[in-house]
Amino acid sequence: MLHPKNAKTVMRAHWSQTLDRLAARYLKRELRLVERRGSVIVRDGRTLVNLASNDYLGLASDQRLIAAASAALERYGIGAGASRLLAGNFSIHEELEAALAEFKRAEAALVFSSGYATNVGILMALATPRDHLYLDELVHASIHDGARLSGARVERFRHADANDLERRLRENASRGARIVVTDGVFSMDGDLAPLPDLIAVCERHDALLVVDDAHGTGVVGPAGRGTAAHFGVEDRVPVQMGTLSKALGGQGGFVAGSRQLIQFLIQRARSFIYSTGIAPVLAAAALEALRIAEREEWRRETIKRHRERLASALAAKGYEVRGELEAPMLLVMIGEAEEALELARALETAGAYAPAIRPPTVPHGTSRIRLAPIATHTAEQIEAVIAAFPEKTR
Ligand SMILES: *Cc1c(COP(=O)(O)O)cnc(C)c1O
Repeated sequence: MLHPKNAKTVMRAHWSQTLDRLAARYLKRELRLVERRGSVIVRDGRTLVNLASNDYLGLASDQRLIAAASAALERYGIGAGASRLLAGNFSIHEELEAALAEFKRAEAALVFSSGYATNVGILMALATPRDHLYLDELVHASIHDGARLSGARVERFRHADANDLERRLRENASRGARIVVTDGVFSMDGDLAPLPDLIAVCERHDALLVVDDAHGTGVVGPAGRGTAAHFGVEDRVPVQMGTLSKALGGQGGFVAGSRQLIQFLIQRARSFIYSTGIAPVLAAAALEALRIAEREEWRRETIKRHRERLASALAAKGYEVRGELEAPMLLVMIGEAEEALELARALETAGAYAPAIRPPTVPHGTSRIRLAPIATHTAEQIEAVIAAFPEKTR
């Protein structure tokens, strides 16, 4: 290390050490090839009940989305071909944005090429190095990345703890703006942010609230309008972010808010400005998904039913199960990464695909199995998943 022959050798040694170390701790991640057939996946010739997707409503393989995307493909071609601000802004983009704004009960919306790009773009645009960002300690990685890139001072408040947030806001004497960011639904814990409490604190301390509702959009609240709608506080969340990639079955991200906010983001969100507009086929699919998600209440009811059945049956088998009824996923808490990995393998052998969630996605010692039932799973498939879990001794 002191006299490296050349930097490349050092780099390669670092790569191989990192890979070895991760493997030794059961933390090395692998890409695994699957084929999707609706709510099941096929892998190595075996059909497995898929509990690992965020396609909660089962729309990713819905024929109506495929038809909408095909029509858009014929009309617009494959890619947008340019940034929205240059020659890449098509009518399907604006139709989708109008529909998203209405869905979120906001004045306007702006679509990005992914949820990740949305968070990075909006946080870099909204927060400057003079400002102060307060993040729930469990927010999604894309929020941490956007926060870092903004150059703002970043503080984490205790998960879902409005009192801790308020204490921090009160102690901050700086003159910069204060921006609070939380997920609406925390996907690795299955709980909802206490939005009414957070809103009250933000309003008392003149802080701007940003809610990332990647996992709430389409699933939570009346007509799937999201976590803010669930709490009846849509008009008090100034920045509502969401994705098209999860319950809406496609790919992309969006932000909804005031016309002024959207105008500002069009000027300043670098991931919007310097990136090709979302593919028109994806915009068309998302528009169709939104219509279906709003109308087909049975999809949300089925997810709830599956979720409840899994939760009670696994608790009866001796597992510690985490997650709120409103959230589409539940977590089976295991502990050590190795143990979680073993259980995931056993589940797979028994026909259920639900991978272990390990550090750094979750804190050390809290590895877990994440179960996300899909609206199109049958009751028999859910029973098969339950049967796949061994009785927990100890
Ligand atoms: C998945 C996710 C994102 C990123 O969305 P993509 O569209 O997949 O890039 C952002 N925030 C949260 C909370 C997410 O779960």
